[in-house]
Amino acid sequence: MMTETEATKLIKQAELTQPKLTKHFMQVVHDQDLSHAYLFSGFAGLGKLELAKTVAMRLFCKNVQPNGMPCGACNECVRIAKNEHPDVMLVEPEGQSIKVHQIRTLKQEFSKSAVEGNRKVFIINGADLMTNGAANSLLKFIEEPVGNVNSFLLTDDYHKILPTIQSRTQLVEFPKIDSQLLIKYAESKQLTKTALNLVLQLTSDVMFIDRLCEDNWLISMKQQVESWFSMLSKGDYQAFTLIQTNFLPLLRDREDQKVTIEMMCLIFRDVFNVKFKNTPASELAFGNIYDLISQMANHLSDNQLICIIDDILESAKKQQINVSFQNILEVITLDCLNQIKE
Ligand SMILES: [Zn+2]
Repeated sequence: MMTETEATKLIKQAELTQPKLTKHFMQVVHDQDLSHAYLFSGFAGLGKLELAKTVAMRLFCKNVQPNGMPCGACNECVRIAKNEHPDVMLVEPEGQSIKVHQIRTLKQEFSKSAVEGNRKVFIINGADLMTNGAANSLLKFIEEPVGNVNSFLLTDDYHKILPTIQSRTQLVEFPKIDSQLLIKYAESKQLTKTALNLVLQLTSDVMFIDRLCEDNWLISMKQQVESWFSMLSKGDYQAFTLIQTNFLPLLRDREDQKVTIEMMCLIFRDVFNVKFKNTPASELAFGNIYDLISQMANHLSDNQLICIIDDILESAKKQQINVSFQNILEVITLDCLNQIKE
């Protein structure tokens, strides 16, 4: 069996999210028909970076597979995947933008003779975040490509890209992931029915599904949110202790924090759906605790329920401005308890 590396993972993700485009680009490379500059446009999670890197791997791979894909195992593939290849450069925003000095560095690197061959590839992830200075600096560069240079500009919306850059690149719009494919992928994670519902409500990004299911994270956090909800339903102030003892240790980073708040919101959305739409347990994200959910649906007035969901959404905004996360969860807990105890 082939061992999974960063490179094979990227290739798999490109094939999974964009089977047609991946096949197309492998053929284009095979036919030596690759354009100098592409503009990849589409939402996060549609595999733009994965495809750009897979194309780069295909260009450098020492062991192209019979199916036309890069091997993902040779030194070239491995270094490209890790952003350690001297002839493949990835530029990403520093903070909120891509700055002119980053593009200058890129140009300097490319004006040197290729370190290990003739070809060079650069990928600009978040191309819409280039400052005007950076965009203009890049423009001159892609107008007069030197030698064997291929560039991939990645953006979530090509309308945000300067028209002068748009006109010098070939636009590739990334289609949405087929929903059946997404469901099938989530199912391959062998989740319970309600955990599957939860995943599909949280994301439509296969890479993110991987992340959620890594080390059983989703299941662990789901259980904690259920315990928290159960304590709330009893008006039990132990819910606060739970935040500190059980929630915080599970949070690896801000992304986890964001998902946690979304889960708190979704559990009350389940309550909402039971109250107003009689949604059956099998369609809920927390259907496994249906009795508690429906008990809460009976207990809360329309207004209280809407207040709770509003409060959670409002708190979610604070997460973006660096308020202590423990503090945010405690405020949510207190707001919920106040509504529920009324
Ligand atoms: Zn290879």
